[in-house]
Amino acid sequence: MTDDRPAEIERRRFLQALGVSAGVAATGANTAIASEHDGDTLPMTYELPELSHEYDALEPYIDERIMELHHSAHHQAYVDGANEALERVAEMRDEDDFEGLRAAKRDFSFHLSGHVNHTVFWENMSPDGGGEPGGALADRIDESFGSFDAFRAEFSEAANQVQPVGWAMLFYEPVADGLVIGQVESQNDLVHQDATPLLALDVWEHAYYLQYENRRDEYVEEWWNVVDWEDVAERCRAAGRRADTH
Ligand code: MN
Repeated sequence: MTDDRPAEIERRRFLQALGVSAGVAATGANTAIASEHDGDTLPMTYELPELSHEYDALEPYIDERIMELHHSAHHQAYVDGANEALERVAEMRDEDDFEGLRAAKRDFSFHLSGHVNHTVFWENMSPDGGGEPGGALADRIDESFGSFDAFRAEFSEAANQVQPVGWAMLFYEPVADGLVIGQVESQNDLVHQDATPLLALDVWEHAYYLQYENRRDEYVEEWWNVVDWEDVAERCRAAGRRADTH
């Protein structure tokens, strides 16, 4: 049992960061918590997480207005969209009428993925970030990509080439026990099943256009100055521990 503890603590921390009560997740659908929307109850709901820093903390690399809009409006919309999709499915279930289920499932996948992606993105960034990782994460990057510079070049290019909108992401891939760089289109296309995002870079235009206009490559280059490698390393450790329990 004691071997499971770090993984369980990490799981709870991750769920809390996503605005999901670990207790609800652990006990399943029988525990209802209040929905913010209409007073009905749903087995699970999502909430916008608070940032660990102020909106202006990442300046000059990401300016305050971008952070404010991105977190309070865009991320909030993904949270609301996920909850609304769950409500629609719950109503269909109550009425035993699943007309429109396919669209609701599609909306849920898109909005929940947007919620998770943004939560990882915020936690990946710090005003004290930048530089290069050390320790086990650095070793893993060297094993998977040859060197940190090679990793960084591939990740930046993945970000610069996403079409039309999406993310560059570093994933821990448990099947081969290695790291891969993904180019996620939209919020949820081309994700790797069962892989865990460790580092996420949002290259939707709302993430940079107010400050960098059409110069996405400049935004990507400056973003490396705020990467919190401690957070990335902790995600990598936690993902490895989860893989060990499979
Ligand atoms: Mn975004």
